[in-house]
Amino acid sequence: MTTIEEKLRACVDEEGWITEPEALQAATQDVRGLFQGQALALLRPANTAQVAAIVRLCLQEKLSIVPQGGNTGYVGGAIPNGERQVIVSLARMNQILEVDAQNNTLTLEAGCILADAQQAAQTAERLLPLGLSTHKRCQIGGNLSTNAGGTSVLRYGNTRDLVLGLEVVLGNGEVWSNLRGLRKDNSGYDLKHLFVGAEGTLGIITAAVLKLSPQPLSTATALFAPKDVGCAIKLLNFLQEISDQRLDAFEYIQGECLQAVKQFYPGLVAPFSCDCPHYVLAELSSGQTHADLSGLLRWARAEFYDGLEAFQIAGDEQQARYFWQLRAAIPRAQNQLGFSLKHDIALPISRIPEFLQDTQAAIENTLPGVQIAAFGHLGDGNLHYNLLPSSTINDQILQSYSDTLSQLVHDRCMALQGSFSAEHGIGQLKKNQWQQYKSPIEQSLSRTLKTALDPQGVFNPNKVLADLP
Ligand SMILES: Cc1cc2nc3c(=O)[nH]c(=O)nc-3n(C[C@H](O)[C@H](O)[C@H](O)COP(=O)(O)OP(=O)(O)OC[C@H]3O[C@@H](n4cnc5c(N)ncnc54)[C@H](O)[C@@H]3O)c2cc1C
Repeated sequence: MTTIEEKLRACVDEEGWITEPEALQAATQDVRGLFQGQALALLRPANTAQVAAIVRLCLQEKLSIVPQGGNTGYVGGAIPNGERQVIVSLARMNQILEVDAQNNTLTLEAGCILADAQQAAQTAERLLPLGLSTHKRCQIGGNLSTNAGGTSVLRYGNTRDLVLGLEVVLGNGEVWSNLRGLRKDNSGYDLKHLFVGAEGTLGIITAAVLKLSPQPLSTATALFAPKDVGCAIKLLNFLQEISDQRLDAFEYIQGECLQAVKQFYPGLVAPFSCDCPHYVLAELSSGQTHADLSGLLRWARAEFYDGLEAFQIAGDEQQARYFWQLRAAIPRAQNQLGFSLKHDIALPISRIPEFLQDTQAAIENTLPGVQIAAFGHLGDGNLHYNLLPSSTINDQILQSYSDTLSQLVHDRCMALQGSFSAEHGIGQLKKNQWQQYKSPIEQSLSRTLKTALDPQGVFNPNKVLADLP
């Protein structure tokens, strides 16, 4: 009699059956070490037909599938969390299929690493405007399935805004292929958007057509130190008004974040004479070679002179990169401080000062001394509102207050019409919040979709929806 293992093995070619213990270990643990699972097998199919064969076999054998990209997700979505689960990694399906420079589109397999996709666009003198610090590891299928955000959302939108076509293996093992680079297509429901942000619970994305943009030919980057967040938001609005859609990024950094960076990476410090309570990293770009973008930044500085403690425009590309390194080092530095209680929230930009003020007061009432270190994509209202240990609050104390503090942060965010998950999704980590904050209608519609598209529950069980297998 053929065993399940032999049947799974027969769905892929020789290279698709992974047995190395290190590879299995890496695939069953998430990047933050919060989730550890077990899998019956780790498969790396070479093409869509093999993915479909795996899905059909899993339906037949009542196994379930955890789709996996680069495994850089923050919420445990790509980690198995039950019995009889098979990890399907798209890593070998990494081909660029077509760059159509005239149509401004890139067609590629879902396992393509984001950095390779960006490089393919660049070679054709185009831009794939998705800016993630994990670009050398994450895959397009993972970006689509998490509707990844990042640093360019302000100008170009989330990953959802970049997708024109998809190929997906469905919950009955059929392949739906719609790899068309159309910007207008109102010929019925827009099915591709069902799979974007679905975190692998509705199907396996195997290929996509993405929208490209003209390459920027000039950029200007500046570090501002506004006196408060209200001033940072006025600066954002001003830059949007004067820059004619050329503001790419507007990142907010609370002073505590750069102090942590300085502590662990002494070479990385803001180029100002003293520490400031708030920073903003702003970047403008243009398709014109000689656009006076620095002039716009200087204009903003002059306009907000009284509201700024410090300001510097990057003198060259190297210094611009240095400013971005400061920003990119924050998560690593915070991780080195010990346990950090992270919140990936979104708010209407106008409500952010109110949120920060009220939440800080409530946190200080609940656990005086805990360190608040927020940063994030202020330009699109996304804050990484992190709570860290301090000289008076150690890891254990902070951990013991996690539920209370997270509830407090999320409650305040939701009361201001925010979201408890801005860009990282739900996965396993935020299922309780999903149940708590999503309205009964939203929960019921989500269940209807899941059962319609994946009636046997073959894809990523126990993820996103709190109460469906
Ligand atoms: C330091 C750091 C910084 C980060 N910064 C950002 C940021 O700024 N913005 C942001 O949005 N995210 C950020 N992330 C999170 C992460 O990089 C993104 O969510 C990324 O898009 C995940 O891609 P991946 O290929 O690693 O997906 P994985 O982690 O492998 O998977 C993520 C989810 O997608 C599903 N999935 C993967 N591939 C497929 C597929 N082909 N078909 C169907 N489902 C699939 C998985 O089952 C899982 O649910 C960051 C992570 C780290 C570690």
